[in-house]
Amino acid sequence: MARALIIGCGAVATVAIKKCCTCSEVFSEICIASRHRENCEKLAQELRPNTKTVITTAAVDADKAENVAKLIKEYKPDLVMNIALPYQDLAIMDACLECGVNYMDTANYEPENIDDPEWRKVYDKRCKEQGFSAYFDYSWQWAYKEKFEKAGLTALLGSGFDPGVSQAYCAYALKHQFDTIEEIDILDCNGGDHGYKFATNFNPEINLREVSAPGSYWDTDENGKGHWVEIPAMSIKREYNFDEVGQKDMYLLHHEEIESLAQNIPGVKRIRFFMTFGQSYLDHMRCLEDVGMLSTQPIKFQGQDIVPIQFLKALLPDPASLGPRTVGKTNIGCIFKGKKDGKDKTYYLYNVCDHQECYKELGSQAIAYTTGVPAMCGAMMVLTGKWNKPGVHTVEEFDPDPFMEALTKYGLPWQENFNPVLVD
Ligand code: NDP
Repeated sequence: MARALIIGCGAVATVAIKKCCTCSEVFSEICIASRHRENCEKLAQELRPNTKTVITTAAVDADKAENVAKLIKEYKPDLVMNIALPYQDLAIMDACLECGVNYMDTANYEPENIDDPEWRKVYDKRCKEQGFSAYFDYSWQWAYKEKFEKAGLTALLGSGFDPGVSQAYCAYALKHQFDTIEEIDILDCNGGDHGYKFATNFNPEINLREVSAPGSYWDTDENGKGHWVEIPAMSIKREYNFDEVGQKDMYLLHHEEIESLAQNIPGVKRIRFFMTFGQSYLDHMRCLEDVGMLSTQPIKFQGQDIVPIQFLKALLPDPASLGPRTVGKTNIGCIFKGKKDGKDKTYYLYNVCDHQECYKELGSQAIAYTTGVPAMCGAMMVLTGKWNKPGVHTVEEFDPDPFMEALTKYGLPWQENFNPVLVD
């Protein structure tokens, strides 16, 4: 019996909220809050007749910690589930600290305005020291570790699929299958087709920023020292034949969980992340980038300030609307290479999810589903005390077993392959 404040009511949050309502014995009360309360209320009205979970709604602009703190003080939740955007992470963490409440999110912090000179200073230093130039990294949230520890509060970072389940798979492989893991390839395949020439499967701004950035991976030199290798965007391409999906082109991207896994998987030498893209998506993205439509820098247009990528977002299909149109499957998982009992071993742990099945069950496509279910399961781990570790932690730092059990129960069972084709 617990009370969760859920910030965000978009594609991912909708799935998480619907799943929370199927588990009222844990989520006995939830408050759904975002800037546009009417969206939260619409969802609440749809759900109330069929759930024992008591649902309330609120309006909050979570860009400001004081707004979130005010709502927390009124609602008194046991956990704040941040399923808004990565821009709000720090403000919501500050509010949780002020009010003494546990925190979780699905994506690590990045600033909305990457031209802010204060942020730029820190960013430029990090690029030089660390060797990767993505706009997001864990340093901002890891800086809260001591404060959360001292307050006796748990902050669970990145409880979606990737990040999230990908890290639970790593923890599971290390716990049950390997003595040491040397190489990890995280493969994210979306074999779904929504019929549009161009659309993004989750928030376009966050998605396009991620995909248009240089790629990078973790590697180790001959002296055993780990380091980042950065490459131009989309410059490493591989083909892979995914179970239940088929042959796809995939590209190496920078991804946030590489950063934490490099620290938390002892002895790991290489970690890479690949995502599949069709040619049409890449052509459109390149063109939009070339004409400046991915810029976050406001421009004056007919006397008004507009941010090109936000304008683009308004033109593109709402990711939440892709559900009825999307057919096909996703296949997301990790291939491991390492040692067990002194022998070389390879192992592939993955989930296959069907877009239309997700739509039938919850009215959402599989990208929102595969993110929203782990968000709910991560929240459940914190609320039931199974994942209770004061500080700021990523998923691989917790026991994967109860989480993976919950994933299976709530719609994301895993599959194993003990002789996988490796990625060269
Ligand atoms: P959407 O754009 O669909 O939804 C975002 C929600 O956040 C909206 O309900 C919006 O409501 C709310 N929001 C935005 N700004 C604020 C604010 N200042 N204060 C309060 N609420 C706000 O995004 P998605 O559902 O696609 O993505 C949600 C999160 O999931 C993102 O952080 C994304 O990066 C992450 N994600 C993680 C994945 C993973 O595997 N780990 C995969 C996919 C996504 P309103 O406008 O009413 O405020």
